[in-house]
Amino acid sequence: MKLADLGEFGFIRRFAGPFQTHLPSGVTGIGDDCAIIPWTADTCQLVTTDMLVEDVHFLRQRTPPQALGEKSLAVNLSDIAAMGGKPTHAFLSIGIPAAVEVEWLDAFFTGLRTLAEHEQVSLLGGDTTSSPGPLIVNIAVLGLIPSKQIKRRSAARPGDSVCVTGELGDAGGGLRVLLDALTMGEDERYLLDRQHRPQAHVQEGQWLGEQPAVHAMLDISDGIDADIRHIMEQSACGAIIDLARLPRSPALLNAAQRHQWDCEQLAATSGEDYCLLLTVAPDQLRAVQAAFQARFARPLTTIGTITDQAMQLLYTRNDQPVQLQQHGFEHFADA
Ligand code: ADP
Ligand code: MG
Repeated sequence: MKLADLGEFGFIRRFAGPFQTHLPSGVTGIGDDCAIIPWTADTCQLVTTDMLVEDVHFLRQRTPPQALGEKSLAVNLSDIAAMGGKPTHAFLSIGIPAAVEVEWLDAFFTGLRTLAEHEQVSLLGGDTTSSPGPLIVNIAVLGLIPSKQIKRRSAARPGDSVCVTGELGDAGGGLRVLLDALTMGEDERYLLDRQHRPQAHVQEGQWLGEQPAVHAMLDISDGIDADIRHIMEQSACGAIIDLARLPRSPALLNAAQRHQWDCEQLAATSGEDYCLLLTVAPDQLRAVQAAFQARFARPLTTIGTITDQAMQLLYTRNDQPVQLQQHGFEHFADA
């Protein structure tokens, strides 16, 4: 059997079962953005790990090393944020091809250190090896969370509003700029920066963690089309997403027009935006949105609704049903 027949998530499901049973009391393992381990009487440890592989996640010759150092940590901080937690400690494992220069690595660590200091995360260890193939970076991050504030993928309820904390499709637009080697104007530069230097919504995640009206949450790493399915699967529900409501930046709208991109497709299916996708009790929605806007000076945008139709994902545009041309990112899917 080929991995392509299973896909990334089919593969994880294939081995996960035995590792999810007989866990110590209160421990949650495979299946959410982080593992959850009881810590003190009313707090839990969160643990997550994410890997970036040259030529899969980044092109070494076209990625500033400082940005890659930042991004390697940011994608992990985003998983802690997705639970509502506060990141605390990190471990870095790195496999380095002989051709990589020390100055390149110095710049990588400057990026990593800058973000770690900004988020008050301390690097406590890791591992270093040579790599006969690509550069491989794996970071694991630990975090803390009051147990009552944990936001699981399994907590969505029919009728909940589906919201996002930021604009969608920018990182995907940036990838197009990079791969198509487009002429750089202001918009292209903005999108490329969103691809190279995603901002994990750490403050937003903690704030949303404190809101009882927020039910399920995850971070958008593979595009909402892929990521909403994780909530649907774990919460045994469906969703309706209105494509017209997906928030898009002025830079993406301008660049899409200039380069004939399908902006809606990019917003729904391209990954790496690393903002948060969450479901909110409908009767509290207005109050949560107003408080979010007051706290972060940005909107918390409603893009759809959770339904009781298990695993049914419907797209609409201004209330008319539509089909998506592509789907969110999954490793092995096009192998
Ligand atoms: P995320 O994108 O939030 O990092 P993924 O979708 O990559 O999460 O993974 C889904 C779940 O499967 C997570 O709980 C993750 O820890 C787990 N997982 C993925 N790969 C492996 C692996 N090789 N071994 C054990 N668990 C894994
Ligand atoms: Mg995640």
